[in-house]
Amino acid sequence: MAEGILSVVATPIGNMGDITQRALETLNSSDLILCEDTRVTKVLLDRYNIKKQMISLNAQSEGRKVEHIISEIKTGKRCALVSDAGTPCISDPGTILISEARKAEIQIEGIPGANAAILALSISGIPVDSFVFDGFLPQKKGRQKKLKQLAEEERTVVFYESVYRIVKLLEELKEYMPERYILVFRELTKKFEEVWRGTPEEILETIDEKKIKGEFVVVLSPLKWKIK
Ligand code: SAM
Repeated sequence: MAEGILSVVATPIGNMGDITQRALETLNSSDLILCEDTRVTKVLLDRYNIKKQMISLNAQSEGRKVEHIISEIKTGKRCALVSDAGTPCISDPGTILISEARKAEIQIEGIPGANAAILALSISGIPVDSFVFDGFLPQKKGRQKKLKQLAEEERTVVFYESVYRIVKLLEELKEYMPERYILVFRELTKKFEEVWRGTPEEILETIDEKKIKGEFVVVLSPLKWKIK
């Protein structure tokens, strides 16, 4: 019997063309596709005419579904793990599955591709030889403490922020790090991609809170760095 495998496959973060040849081959040769939201992954699979059984695996269900998935892989199935967008496990589900698969000595392969944080860093124009990735900042408890820590952070910082809090975040950054040069990327790789750069106050002046939509990555320049 052929050995099963768990393939961790990166998918696009908006532009459907941003998927590798190897990702498509892997999805095509999988028996099962584990995805956050089957409706989102179906759009990608339909675009590339891939028809496969899908199982949803999200933050709520991951823990209780892991045992079943591991047993499927042990019977020889090829499983591909994808998330709604970008690289699985980066502020997305999958870590419990991968950790259990490692304990079960299952073969795991990674199929690299898009990631919103890395893309933002790579086009930021600020030093990124050393950086901190902070996922999503805490929404309530611990948020102020985290902002204070970030104000002292010497390295470049990158994190995700939701449309519901982006203006609030800029107001907080204005309070905690008024002089810091920052970049706010919206809708990377998509039709309405946009970037704002400057101090938090400068960005706040140009953002129209009522019209703002989409997905955001925020990059903070290093503490002692100044744009020339
Ligand atoms: N795993 C994903 C990755 O590899 O980038 C990130 C998943 S996280 C749940 C989703 C967040 O990533 C969004 O709320 C947004 O902050 C950021 N994001 C994802 N796609 C983006 C895009 N095209 N433009 C800007 N931000 C994006």
